[in-house]
Amino acid sequence: MIVALPSRSRVIMDTAIAVDSRFPAMGTTIFTVMSRMAAECGAINLSQGFPDFQADRALFDAMHRHMLAGRNQYAPMAGMPELRAAIVDKVSTLYGTRFDVDSEVTVTAGATQAIFTAIAAFVRPGDEVIVFEPVYDSYVPAIETVGGKAVFAQLRFPDYRPDWEQVRQLVTPKTRMIIVNSPHNPTGSLIVAVDLEKLAEIVRGTNIVVLSDEVYEHIVFEAPGHASLCAHPELASRSIVVSSFGKTYHITGWKIGYVVGPAALMAEFRKVHQFNVFTVHAPSQLALAEYMQDASRHLALADFYREKRDAFRALLADTPFELLPCRGTYFQLARYDRISDLPDREFAAWMTREVGVAVIPVSVFYADGHDDRVVRFCFAKVPETLAAAGARLRQLRARD
Ligand code: PMP
Ligand code: GLN
Repeated sequence: MIVALPSRSRVIMDTAIAVDSRFPAMGTTIFTVMSRMAAECGAINLSQGFPDFQADRALFDAMHRHMLAGRNQYAPMAGMPELRAAIVDKVSTLYGTRFDVDSEVTVTAGATQAIFTAIAAFVRPGDEVIVFEPVYDSYVPAIETVGGKAVFAQLRFPDYRPDWEQVRQLVTPKTRMIIVNSPHNPTGSLIVAVDLEKLAEIVRGTNIVVLSDEVYEHIVFEAPGHASLCAHPELASRSIVVSSFGKTYHITGWKIGYVVGPAALMAEFRKVHQFNVFTVHAPSQLALAEYMQDASRHLALADFYREKRDAFRALLADTPFELLPCRGTYFQLARYDRISDLPDREFAAWMTREVGVAVIPVSVFYADGHDDRVVRFCFAKVPETLAAAGARLRQLRARD
């Protein structure tokens, strides 16, 4: 006999509460919006940043082995000692600063949690935090959640270089934190050694904490490579530096990352971390600790993505898109004013629906919606995906 299962659909529940939203103007993150639109339209999704290829089997085997070995209970609050040691070794080898395994490194549930936790640990109501526009979308909501005020410096089109004189002028006695991000999402621009010197001059003698989002640290296409704040002793001594295994090992869905920083700052970070997430998925930490032992896995990443960047740029070379420089990350910016005069959000929606390639409009990374008519493509894709997208994009013609 066939038994009808009860329907899972139900009417959305009413609430008697008059919701007084803390964020009445806040919508849904652009990454969710565009990925959803891409799925609805059957478009090739070059919007949200994630690889469409599989990560290494060795990582899965390691995690499985640790699960079967019973390593399934809470990890220590700061992270598995094996993983913390592997992180400290890597950072020391690459950037020359050896953080203390016990007190200066914490494993986080991705970079997003790390950034939120660092902001919550240091920023008090009324404090100012300097961020650079275009600004990665999670920073400002985190600042505002804890009652801080975001103050905007500009990375200006088309080079998106920091203007340190502007930053200097934005610093006030209320400045608690400066957030930097290099390699930079969405622009692919880099902070270089001279920028670190300028930043160090600005914060010298203040109590400003620097939060450095370095999740694309291994995806830098230009010599001498990534300018980590960890490699600048003066800045390292007042910074929390964030990275993410999601970007490095093609596992964005694992949501695992880490922070390093001086013990006094890390102690404050952990006060929030312990009640925010407490601890992170244990078997993945053990698997990553093992996987990190082979440094070629992260050191090869820049060449791996350089090839994809160059292939994608070649595919777009004969289109009316104007490609901006991509010095790091797996994002390519393109100016489209030869194709359309639509604002970038409308252009991104049109691209998704009509051209079948989903992109991110860059104006979403500006508080005032500043629009240089630029969109972002993610090229962390297999050659077939890039070729299919390229075929669609090559149909586009310049306006008369
Ligand atoms: N910062 C930047 C600049 C990012 O691009 C991302 C994710 N793409 C994050 C933080 C968040 O990383 P995670 O997925 O590890 O939370
Ligand atoms: N950081 C990724 C990007 O820039 C997306 C992360 C997310 O979806 N929140 O596309």
